[in-house]
Amino acid sequence: MKPGLPKIDTEGLKSFIPEDEIFDLLEKTKNPTPERVREVIARSLDKNRLEPEEMAVLINADTPELAEEIFEGARKLKELVYGNRIVLFAPLYIGNDCVNNCQYCGFRCTNKEVARKTLTLPELDREIEALVNKGHKRLILVYGEHPQYDAQFIHDTVKEVYAQKHGNGEIRRVNINAAPLDVEGFKLVKSAGIGTYQIFQETYHRETYAQVHPSGPKSDFLWRLHGLDRAQEAGIDDVGIGALMGLTDWRFETMALLYHTIHLEERFKVGPHTISFPRIEPAIGTDTGQYPGVNDFDFKRLVAILRLAVPYTGLILTCRESVELRNDIIKFGVSQIDAGSDIGVGAYSTKDEESYKKSQFVLNDGRSLDQVIRELCEAGFIPSFCTGCYRLGRTGEHFMEFAVPGFVKRFCTPNAILTFLEYMEDYSSPETKKAGMLQIERELERMPENDQKAKLVERIAQVKQGARDLYF
Ligand code: SAM
Ligand code: SF4
Repeated sequence: MKPGLPKIDTEGLKSFIPEDEIFDLLEKTKNPTPERVREVIARSLDKNRLEPEEMAVLINADTPELAEEIFEGARKLKELVYGNRIVLFAPLYIGNDCVNNCQYCGFRCTNKEVARKTLTLPELDREIEALVNKGHKRLILVYGEHPQYDAQFIHDTVKEVYAQKHGNGEIRRVNINAAPLDVEGFKLVKSAGIGTYQIFQETYHRETYAQVHPSGPKSDFLWRLHGLDRAQEAGIDDVGIGALMGLTDWRFETMALLYHTIHLEERFKVGPHTISFPRIEPAIGTDTGQYPGVNDFDFKRLVAILRLAVPYTGLILTCRESVELRNDIIKFGVSQIDAGSDIGVGAYSTKDEESYKKSQFVLNDGRSLDQVIRELCEAGFIPSFCTGCYRLGRTGEHFMEFAVPGFVKRFCTPNAILTFLEYMEDYSSPETKKAGMLQIERELERMPENDQKAKLVERIAQVKQGARDLYF
């Protein structure tokens, strides 16, 4: 395998995002009747993946009353499919060198104000130590696009993360957010034992894409659009898609995310494992005010609509959003959030006052992991650090088979409780432990008396006596 960035080859590739059809559907479904909107919500509550026309109906249901019905539908669906668990993770920026010129991003090559930094392996070890000692178990490693961050480098950094053990803790799942590779590169990265590989298309609108990506390998729309197909071809069956909301009309991007999902389902019998919908945030040396953006009401609508459209796909909400908005949106559909995040390269271990100069954009939720966890418990959620499925091979298509009623009760909730208990035993503040233990008790009370519960109670006792990493 040659070092450096892969050779771009888009011969024979076509876009699977039918722009005209999307605009047409959005036009045709304007002013839907309440009955039609309820029909679509009901189909989703039957846990069907929606069709594009149905999503367009929800997008056009934009009165406050109909929006409320959509939020309510999404809340119900979330409860049905996911229960009250929220999976927690942290982003870890490995390096911010970049050969691309994404106009919205603080890391773009033409930005003179950003301080460039790539972690050395000893620095990476220190970051991991800091994250493990806070209680994290799941990370997403983030990289700029640069010849030095090739597949071998990504592979080596993932291996380095898994090799660390501190006290009772270690990182058990490493996801990746990096540039698209070729099939060989993806195979190499997979061999390091990654969880999900995320690539955000940023915008699915070709003209906008060309405007905001004027140069560098990322300027090739098709190479990026088919990136996760290549990941699947290489055997990575948990892939994450996303759009950077606000570059162009969010309605178009939300529809396009559904088309991307359908494309993956049709080609690989499994849709994306997760969908992300980051909103543009201010970034050092960057004019992010020039884009249409998405207001809070529409942002909430787009999350609820995605929840209803793809009932079994994980939705990720990051610290880009404010505490108030996160607390609100968590209720209707998000399954994973980051917490205690710092996105300055090296910032977890160095307490760098100028960390923002090494950051890609600005975060709006600065709470610590412990505080987020306490507030989640107080709001009735069970925080989870579970990594059971991926370590037992319940990924991709197999994960879809499991994503049926009963699965959450059998695996997810018990695993959430066990990993949350580990957190409380090893890392939490006394107040958080108090709130958390109460929450676990409530959860246990709700469970019917059966073998499953007996096993869980036995494992809870084992964790309290010092056993770690138990899962179903
Ligand atoms: N360099 C790789 C790439 O572009 O695919 C890896 C990920 S990049 C470091 C992470 C993501 O951050 C991008 O895909 C983009 O969606 C998002 N992002 C970039 N600039 C942003 C901004 N100003 N506000 C919010 N998110 C931003
Ligand atoms: Fe580089 Fe990614 Fe930022 Fe674009 S979004 S400039 S590729 S780090």
